Amino acid sequence: VVIEEPAPLPDTPRPDAVTITHPDRVIFPDSTLTKGDLAAYCRAIAPVMLPWTANRPVSLVRCPQGRARACFFQKHDAGSFGEQVHHVDVTEKDGSVEPYLYVTDADGLAACVQMGSIEFHGWGSSVATLEQPDRMIFDLDPDEGLDFADTRQAAEHLKNQLAELGLTSFPLLSGGKGIHVVVPLTPQARWPAVKDFADRFARALAQAEPDRFVAVATKAKRKGRIFIDWLRNQRGATAILPYSARARAHAPVAAPVSWTELRNIDTAARWTIADAAELLDRAGSAALAGWGIADQTLPDL
Ligand code: ATP
Ligand code: MN
Ligand code: MN
Repeated sequence: VVIEEPAPLPDTPRPDAVTITHPDRVIFPDSTLTKGDLAAYCRAIAPVMLPWTANRPVSLVRCPQGRARACFFQKHDAGSFGEQVHHVDVTEKDGSVEPYLYVTDADGLAACVQMGSIEFHGWGSSVATLEQPDRMIFDLDPDEGLDFADTRQAAEHLKNQLAELGLTSFPLLSGGKGIHVVVPLTPQARWPAVKDFADRFARALAQAEPDRFVAVATKAKRKGRIFIDWLRNQRGATAILPYSARARAHAPVAAPVSWTELRNIDTAARWTIADAAELLDRAGSAALAGWGIADQTLPDL
């Protein structure tokens, strides 16, 4: 006996594979934005966020009670996120193997939000070529007291110095205080080589202008300077992913901008999760065409 399934009704929406519980829970008390708002933002922004976020190990900043309460940084998990979030085995320095998380689609982003995640940080390599980074990042961390214009000029300086080495780079507003200078790479060189390049490059800049830049993490040495944080470029390190929300006041997001636009931007927290429509528009604009894309490998340094 063949039992035919009834044909699906034409306009029946597919139920979301991920149910957001407590959608009205306020997780950004400073602007009364809720878990539901964040989930909606993630679903809306997914088409432009996923190219940077999908298929790479992510670490999540989870704040189950909202950003004003306890948050924690989660790198791996054995399965509590559900089937929308995938795992890739990563061998750690000590030889242990841990299931790192990655997503492939909007449901995956939503599943992370359901688990209280606010921030998506990503490895510099994808799960397909875990040992070969597809981008290098210089995270510019200004000392308190410096203003955004200093950071902006520093970013432009890095851009020019990278260009002299034949490398194209792109600015990402972190959504916090600083700017990340993103250098796309064809996955070829392995982590130690990329780390070494980033280290030498940052040190060279700091040596050339010691009053302006510092390339060591020591807080005391940062006074009045911009720390060129090159340590994002080692295996296992992460950086905030484009379009991720930040667990900071007023729900800012990390946002790609063009070098030209950057000159007229006054804060790294220029856009928030309330700006999904504008961010989507911008992503399709001429200014951002080709952002983050360059087929290039590291020269000798
Ligand atoms: P800002 O522009 O305000 O500096 P940011 O995203 O660059 O924002 P940083 O503090 O400079 O923030 O960078 C911290 C980096 O270290 C993040 O990119 C993140 O991936 C990583 N990180 C943050 N928290 C932890 C943690 N608890 N353990 C390991 N790595 C972390
Ligand atoms: Mn930073
Ligand atoms: Mn940093």
